[in-house]
Amino acid sequence: MASPYPVNLQAPDITPYREGNTGVDYVTTFDSGNTGPHVMLTALVHGNELCGAITLDFLLRNDVRPTRGKLTLGFMNVAAYENFNPADPDSSRYVDEDFNRVWDPQVLDGDRKSAELKRARQVRPIIDKVDYLLDIHSMQHPTVPLLLCGPAEKGRKLARTISFPPHVVSDVGHAAGRRLRDYGEFADETSAKNALLIECGQHWEPSSEAVAKEMALRFLAHYDVIDRQFVSDHLPAEAPASQQLIQVSGPVTIETDSFKFTEAFRGMEVIERAGTVIGYDGDQAIRTPYDNCVLIMPSRRLRKGESAVRFGRVVE
Ligand SMILES: [Zn+2]
Repeated sequence: MASPYPVNLQAPDITPYREGNTGVDYVTTFDSGNTGPHVMLTALVHGNELCGAITLDFLLRNDVRPTRGKLTLGFMNVAAYENFNPADPDSSRYVDEDFNRVWDPQVLDGDRKSAELKRARQVRPIIDKVDYLLDIHSMQHPTVPLLLCGPAEKGRKLARTISFPPHVVSDVGHAAGRRLRDYGEFADETSAKNALLIECGQHWEPSSEAVAKEMALRFLAHYDVIDRQFVSDHLPAEAPASQQLIQVSGPVTIETDSFKFTEAFRGMEVIERAGTVIGYDGDQAIRTPYDNCVLIMPSRRLRKGESAVRFGRVVE
């Protein structure tokens, strides 16, 4: 099914960044020479999500450099992005499989081959050296931006400290495979490493670009790794609003070849009564598990094994 939403963002030319300086195409590391954390921003984990690429292009064109520690900027699924076509913008999400479902060490170390696994295996040694990761994404439907902080308290704490955007989702990811955000020590509560995934808005709406830039600057400012003047010159003046934390209780993983929603949900709908039917997986009614259930990112890709939607409740 074609996307009902227009492409109102320009896909940037990222070929100037191909060579980089890490030995891995499209990944560049700047070393301040001073002690400090290694912070990384990733874009194009999904090849049709433009706001992250626009944000990295913005930082690179402005010659943003770390003032302490290291800053790595990485365009991830470039092979998919190279297929981006505004006339068919959905088709470049990935080449062979979802790059954001391959981050289990057993999968990365295993025999499976795909364009995405090849790329993940290339960038993995760099990811392994990173202390703090911000992975920039966008969504199928136009809803409020969501910060996905993972299931651990350290992720929730980081989201609260950065205090942007107003909606935070604490979740364990998908049955189909592990996300980059949940890779390695990012998911280990005993490690100081940490990662956030920002869903900036609908893939091709201009507001997603503004959210991606703001989130990137707030993340870099939180770790105090770039010039403070550059941050204040490019951040909106107003302080962030208060935050709402939504705890996801689990994904609805599709088990048949015929999943249908009862309505054209976009996400963030609050379903008042527990037991309300929101869809059918074959003959099986899918019911909300509790009162005031929030629907998180209902998908238009309703394929067996993928997540149709996630259920969440507001906890703070
Ligand atoms: Zn994405």
